[in-house]
Amino acid sequence: MKIIIIGAGPGGYETAAEAASRGIETVLIHEGPLGGTCLNEGCIPTKALCAMDAPDQERKEAVITQLRAGIAQLMRNKLITLVEGRAKLVSPRSVEAAGQIYEADAIIIATGSVSASLPIPGAGLAIDSAAMLNLKDVPRRLCVIGGGVIGLEFASIYRKFGSEVTVLEFCPGILPRFDTDLAKRLKAALVKRGITIETSARVTAISEGKVLWSKGEQEFETEADCILMAVGRRPNLASLNLDDLGISYTPRGITVDENMQTSVPGIYAVGDITGGMMLAHVASAQGRRALNHICGIPDGIDFSVVPAAVFTVPEAACAGKTEEECEGMETTVGKANYRANGKAVASGEADGICKVIADKASGRILGVHILGAHASDLIHEAAVLIAMKATVQQAGDIIHAHPTLSEVLLSAIRSC
Ligand code: NAD
Repeated sequence: MKIIIIGAGPGGYETAAEAASRGIETVLIHEGPLGGTCLNEGCIPTKALCAMDAPDQERKEAVITQLRAGIAQLMRNKLITLVEGRAKLVSPRSVEAAGQIYEADAIIIATGSVSASLPIPGAGLAIDSAAMLNLKDVPRRLCVIGGGVIGLEFASIYRKFGSEVTVLEFCPGILPRFDTDLAKRLKAALVKRGITIETSARVTAISEGKVLWSKGEQEFETEADCILMAVGRRPNLASLNLDDLGISYTPRGITVDENMQTSVPGIYAVGDITGGMMLAHVASAQGRRALNHICGIPDGIDFSVVPAAVFTVPEAACAGKTEEECEGMETTVGKANYRANGKAVASGEADGICKVIADKASGRILGVHILGAHASDLIHEAAVLIAMKATVQQAGDIIHAHPTLSEVLLSAIRSC
């Protein structure tokens, strides 16, 4: 069997490696550098900055280069054909790139997303997250438009670097898709660290060094030396030739079924290009699902249990349902504070909370939301429990090592 994968982000290169491991002849066509947004201008460089006290571009580039070389080696080891160039779909079984036509039994599109902007005067004066990662100097005043994941991570990083940071969020609360209670607590923690957060703020224009915005009837302006636009991302549909092939899509992304197959059989789409949850781990899981379908192998990937983490200080992470999503259900909520945890106190990381939502009648754990140190690591035990449909009784009986932060989750489970 032959497969063509377009795009070398986590959705593309991880799926290519898996396909090749299964003995499928694999061609990976990529326009940008290996690793896509995640490695080159997203998750990884952001985490490199998170670990610094001042921006160190050399160190950040070294991290990217090392990991990119690792992917290149993996592609070589798996005997994957790498083609550099922009891919254009020619037929349901062929793709043109770098002046050549490639043919396959199935095609997976994984071309990712690009930063979105606002249709307001002066929008071009703001920079996007990719440009933000390359700043050599720390701006004295940073204004972030958008209190979502990207906006808050940069707000947190640059506050640590010493900037005066203002976040302008359109919705009544930050992180609109997260559990409201957790988002409120994160907001309070960020404000405590000196970040100004304005919610229900409608940005109307940007001029040199200034962001104009309104709240209700009142108009405001925030002066800034750097303005970051972080109002979401849009699918990278450019020049794939979707219309000619009759592949259905909306401005939000390519339309796919539960197997990630597009409206044209044999052509699949995974990751940000499908406009769902724009997360690297979702893209690679979707790639696995597409590959399984191509190979005729059923799988048990549960796309309703996706752990997500926000790498602010403190970190926030969640898995499963929010309290809002449980509305109308009979639930119990258990909470535990980091300050009652021996290791958290001993290591000076005592600010934080873990919240567990369970179904009242069955005791099944439905959602877990953590705010505090290492939340991004702790959340995976919760994801496993939710995916395995564990009850609070079963989970509460599992012995946890002492002293560890994992005991915060155990305490929250037991208090349900
Ligand atoms: P997002 O959708 O998370 O947040 C965008 C925010 O901008 C929202 O809160 C929205 O209400 C706000 N907004 C929209 N229009 C606005 C306006 N006119 N004025 C002010 N605010 C406005 O998008 P993002 O933060 O740009 O991130 C893009 C994608 O990348 C998301 O899907 C995100 O999950 C993903 N991402 C994930 C991580 C992570 O998992 N740690 C990190 C970075 C990005």
